Amino acid sequence: MRRKLVAGNWKMHGGLSANEALVRSMQARLTDAVACALCVPFPYLAQMSGLVGGTSIALGAQSISEHDSGAYTGEVSGGMLKEFGCEYVIVGHSERRAMFAEGDARVAAKFAAALRHGLTPILCVGETLAERESGETETVIARQIDAVIENSGVGTLGKAVLAYEPVWAIGTGRTATPDQAQQVHAFLRGRVAALDATLANGLMILYGGSVKASNAAEMFAMADVDGGLIGGASLVADDFLAICHAATRQ
Ligand code: PEP
Repeated sequence: MRRKLVAGNWKMHGGLSANEALVRSMQARLTDAVACALCVPFPYLAQMSGLVGGTSIALGAQSISEHDSGAYTGEVSGGMLKEFGCEYVIVGHSERRAMFAEGDARVAAKFAAALRHGLTPILCVGETLAERESGETETVIARQIDAVIENSGVGTLGKAVLAYEPVWAIGTGRTATPDQAQQVHAFLRGRVAALDATLANGLMILYGGSVKASNAAEMFAMADVDGGLIGGASLVADDFLAICHAATRQ
């Protein structure tokens, strides 16, 4: 059975004193039974690596440059993330795809950059509401994952985590039903299985989109849902812990 992972995405939230209080409150009550990570804004990586070092919380970033160094003002490389203790990095989040012109090719290049630096990419895929309503969900998801497979090879997915995040469920309070999530997760796993069945069997596929303490357990009970990528609820210790505990009960 695959171990569950619960990863928090703080997005552009946080503050030095609030971060410390939040993480200390989480640490005091977390168990090792579930793998857990927090993906925080770049400026807080130094503080967070001090706070989570030696604990069961792994550190992650929310984006990465596809380049290793050079004249790319404002960008942050994988080498820099690694120096600050990052293990994970989110790539292809729908907010980056929609607001920062990150198309499939760029996401694939960022995925490759993460691997070059020994980081585990959390590769996000997901359809918009219009795409779902016009029956294009699987076409969109296939296009997004195929771009990465074509660029890096299917074997590299063994060093990555996938996250299915329907765009219409992110930060909207409208979560996918467990059956809707399971259907897409099974589709993703099947697509990878067609190329490498063993790898697909071990592939971790998280669900993200308005996961809360109240809906986490039923989501995590689905056969192909291996944990969650949690936005808003990762900013509240009690909520994040309840979601982690829901994952340990599966
Ligand atoms: C996210 O930011 O990846 C996310 C899933 O957000 P939320 O949980 O707030 O919907």
